[in-house]
Amino acid sequence: MSKVAIIGGGASGIVAAIFAAKNNDVTVFCEQTFGKKLLVTGNGRCNLTNTKNFDKVYNQDINEYLEKFNYLDTIEFFNNLGLEIYVDEEGRVYPISNSAQSVVDVLLHKAQILNIHIKDHTKVESVKYGEKIQVITQDDIFNFDKVVISTGSTTQFLDDLHIEYKEFRPSLCALVTKQNTKRLSGLRLSNVLCKLEKDNKEYFEFGEVLFKDKGLSGICIFNLSSYLARSKNYNGKIFIDLLPKQTAEQTLQILTNRHKLNLGNAIDFMTGLFCREVNKYILSVCGISEDKVLTSNDIQKICATIKNLEFDIVDKYDNNQVKSGGINLEDLTQNFEHKKLKNIYFVGEVCDVDGLCGGYNLQWAFTSGKIAGESL
Ligand SMILES: Cc1cc2nc3c(=O)[nH]c(=O)nc-3n(C[C@H](O)[C@H](O)[C@H](O)COP(=O)(O)OP(=O)(O)OC[C@H]3O[C@@H](n4cnc5c(N)ncnc54)[C@H](O)[C@@H]3O)c2cc1C
Repeated sequence: MSKVAIIGGGASGIVAAIFAAKNNDVTVFCEQTFGKKLLVTGNGRCNLTNTKNFDKVYNQDINEYLEKFNYLDTIEFFNNLGLEIYVDEEGRVYPISNSAQSVVDVLLHKAQILNIHIKDHTKVESVKYGEKIQVITQDDIFNFDKVVISTGSTTQFLDDLHIEYKEFRPSLCALVTKQNTKRLSGLRLSNVLCKLEKDNKEYFEFGEVLFKDKGLSGICIFNLSSYLARSKNYNGKIFIDLLPKQTAEQTLQILTNRHKLNLGNAIDFMTGLFCREVNKYILSVCGISEDKVLTSNDIQKICATIKNLEFDIVDKYDNNQVKSGGINLEDLTQNFEHKKLKNIYFVGEVCDVDGLCGGYNLQWAFTSGKIAGESL
């Protein structure tokens, strides 16, 4: 039986601890409390994984790991802990309580059954590598045979241990636009198609966009932000098709029919198409004053704008759900042990794996945590 330290009581660390505890004496060091970060996930509901599409949702192919622990294994793991779950129409898996606290509760219960030592409110200050690995906190020095680092996108230990990693960059975040979106702030567009143009490539997302004071948010935008996070900067262009179910021709036909109804001036013409502020915004983008009587040329302009509402992305918002970057998987064994630092393992977000919204990031945390934990 080895003495194992898990640094970081988040999603990956907890799962690593549970699997490691079958054969080892395990201690989890939590800067805050065990599982606290999980409480904020999925808007407090914790989107555990996804039963649908795993194709192209990560920055790289991680199938060889998912083959060892995939979404079905995650569901089975949590069911065996006593957690009841449900799957929504998008394939997102949540606890039936709709409360992330239930997830933390079953994990904590299991950790207690397995006699895992949990050190809450204990920040690890440093890790000293040697035959025994020293874990140093403010008050104590502990010796371990093996250490799992599951500290998310914290760079402290990577720097201490002189480990190479790819710079961490915010992903799944709102984006700042050059265009002033203040008057649209708080408005939500549903069922729109967003296209990101970046470095001569196009990325598409269908769903919801939320306007913020200085830009765009919502799941579509979060997902598109991940492509920017993986590139050199957060500059690009996003085009929103407000009527993706209609072709440009069909949209023009709708507008032409409305034009024939003689609805009044430009703003009267727009009323009933989208919500008031969006109607006004479209007219201002087209350079058409609200009291103008529209010409067929104006109708063409409005049609083009509806199909391609353009935003220049100039930056990101500070809050993010995940960070891209981290340790290259090639520097780790199949079990996540560092190839140059025997007995030190890295799991979860600290590895260079990031996914789109929908439960994919927690799935990675669980997959890597399980594989590493079980191998100890
Ligand atoms: C608001 C929000 C909502 C999210 N919702 C979802 C979702 O619904 N579904 C999904 O799949 N993903 C979601 N994510 C992403 C998901 O939370 C992460 O991918 C996942 O938590 C990463 O797990 P991890 O174990 O690698 O790191 P973390 O969960 O970040 O855990 C790292 C832990 O290490 C601790 N730590 C760091 N340094 C030290 C130290 N020196 N000493 C001791 N402890 C330390 C931290 O306090 C933290 O508890 C969300 C993220 C956010 C921010």
